[in-house]
Amino acid sequence: MSPKSALNNIWGDAGYLDNSDSYRPLITLRFYAVVALFLTSGIFYFFDLGISYLPILIISISVLLYNVVYSLILRSGKSFSGFLLLQVIIDWIALFFVALYTGGIASPAIFVFPIYGAVVGFILESTPSILLAGFGSALIISILGRDIILGNIHSNGIIYSIGTALIYCSVLVIITLLSTWISGNLRFKLKTIEGLQKKIDVDNERLRKSHELSINMNADLTLEGTLKAITSTISESPNITACVIRLLTDDGKRIKIMDTSGVSEEHASRESVFLEDSLIDFETITTREPLYIPDVLSDARFEYRDDATAENLVSMICIPLIVRDTPLGVIRCYTNRFYEFTENDVKFLDTVATSASLSISSSNQFRKLERLNKTRSAFLRLATHELRSPMAAVQSILHLVLEGFTGKITRKQRELFERANKRIDRLLLLVSELLELEGFSEKEMEFSTCNLHDILSNVVRDIAPKSDAKGIKMRVHIPRGDLAIDCDSDSIYRVLENLVDNAVKYSKEQGVVMIIVDELTDSVSVEIIDNGIGIPEDDLKNLFMEFFRSKNARKMEVHGTGLGLSIVKKIVESHGGFVEVSSKIGEGTRFKVILPIHHNNKTT
Ligand code: ADP
Repeated sequence: MSPKSALNNIWGDAGYLDNSDSYRPLITLRFYAVVALFLTSGIFYFFDLGISYLPILIISISVLLYNVVYSLILRSGKSFSGFLLLQVIIDWIALFFVALYTGGIASPAIFVFPIYGAVVGFILESTPSILLAGFGSALIISILGRDIILGNIHSNGIIYSIGTALIYCSVLVIITLLSTWISGNLRFKLKTIEGLQKKIDVDNERLRKSHELSINMNADLTLEGTLKAITSTISESPNITACVIRLLTDDGKRIKIMDTSGVSEEHASRESVFLEDSLIDFETITTREPLYIPDVLSDARFEYRDDATAENLVSMICIPLIVRDTPLGVIRCYTNRFYEFTENDVKFLDTVATSASLSISSSNQFRKLERLNKTRSAFLRLATHELRSPMAAVQSILHLVLEGFTGKITRKQRELFERANKRIDRLLLLVSELLELEGFSEKEMEFSTCNLHDILSNVVRDIAPKSDAKGIKMRVHIPRGDLAIDCDSDSIYRVLENLVDNAVKYSKEQGVVMIIVDELTDSVSVEIIDNGIGIPEDDLKNLFMEFFRSKNARKMEVHGTGLGLSIVKKIVESHGGFVEVSSKIGEGTRFKVILPIHHNNKTT
């Protein structure tokens, strides 16, 4: 180390506590010292102690002056490295003169050296403190030397004076060393605590990030949403500046950048490559272990050198994405300076990668399911649509035959044709309900302000022939006046018609069906209550499932498809409402539909 840098170190060390907080108490104390020195010179002036007051007065004025300068520097906020050290040196020189003019080695002012030494040990680092203790000792020895030269020897003799000076020097050095050691220990502990605090902060941040990630990943089931949540969470994590997710293609042969955060668009749009050609990904996936690269530019395996230079990518860790033993791809995490990933970093990234893999895999499954569902719907729509026309044609032919347009038919033939006609009726109902259910998701709802009175009276009018045929009484309780709600009137008609039709269908003859409408604060409730066959308790949970029919309903030999309630539920939910059901077997059933009065996406 050069002498200059050694000196810099000392001044630099001195700067450890070299801040305004350390100067302030020293400056205050110095003002007290000035008062004490004034008083001392006053005592020397008024009482004839054989000591001249003038030097003490001059020293006190000098101390006052330089202390004023110090406080001005402090106020201006312009301090410099080693300012504290300089103050101590000047103070000790002043102290040296006070001792000289107040009795030399026998002066009580010399006591101040060890006391100041203790302060120095606390406020400065060890090297400047030890050097100052040496400097103080040299000053004490100089006072002794001057006493010897001038013959101001204590009455106990020269040895006594030398002994006193040595004791002062050793006390100064010991106290300074002791306080340096104590403060050094305290500083070390403080640093350890600060380090721990930083670690805790980083861990907390990571915990918060992984919590945030699981919320974000669950909030969006699409692959794009999941990947975005992962890259943004990782790139915002402590020490990481960029993140890239690379996923294997379906055949597992190529690997492609799927989402990025913190890198340029150019990097994000790089083409897929063969896995074998991407050595880093290949190694990570085959070893199934995180791969750390301290400096991407000096690693021959790294393929995007230009990007790394332009985007300041320095260290990197590549984490495999694996789910149930199947590799999905990798996550590359970059830093913008040389960084050695700690065990905790790797643990955190591993945890994130594990949940990310699960999420990516679920998103893939979800995507496949969606695709399958679309195919199923398309097939069903096509099949049912293709079935409807020939069935309708067959039915009209049957009608022609039954109505005698094709000539006379025997009783037996009529019976058979009528049975066939009934079957075709049922099939047509099934086909139209299937079409309704499958086409529902694609149907654009047309919301407008409708009067529930009108919809309900249409329903009652249309069901009346069926209820009359069974001698069932229909009672409607609805508040007077208009009952306007935002809805798709055809769909709501379909809901109420289905529920009232079921109530009639599953009631015995001479039963009663009640329809009770209630206006609530911002919704309406419509209850359809019957005293029919009821629904077994175990079946209630399956009621809204497609094709579900209760055993007792099937026994009743009334025709049904098991699709009506699924359609009801879908329509009501698309209006922002819900359906409830309660029933007791043999006693009856109550369906309650709650519909909001206002719809958010009103399109009148
Ligand atoms: P469907 O009436 O064509 O069978 P739904 O989806 O409308 O189909 O109803 C599903 C099943 O729910 C019915 O088969 C029946 O078992 C039961 N259900 C619906 N409404 C009632 C009701 N009011 N009383 C008794 N059971 C009912």
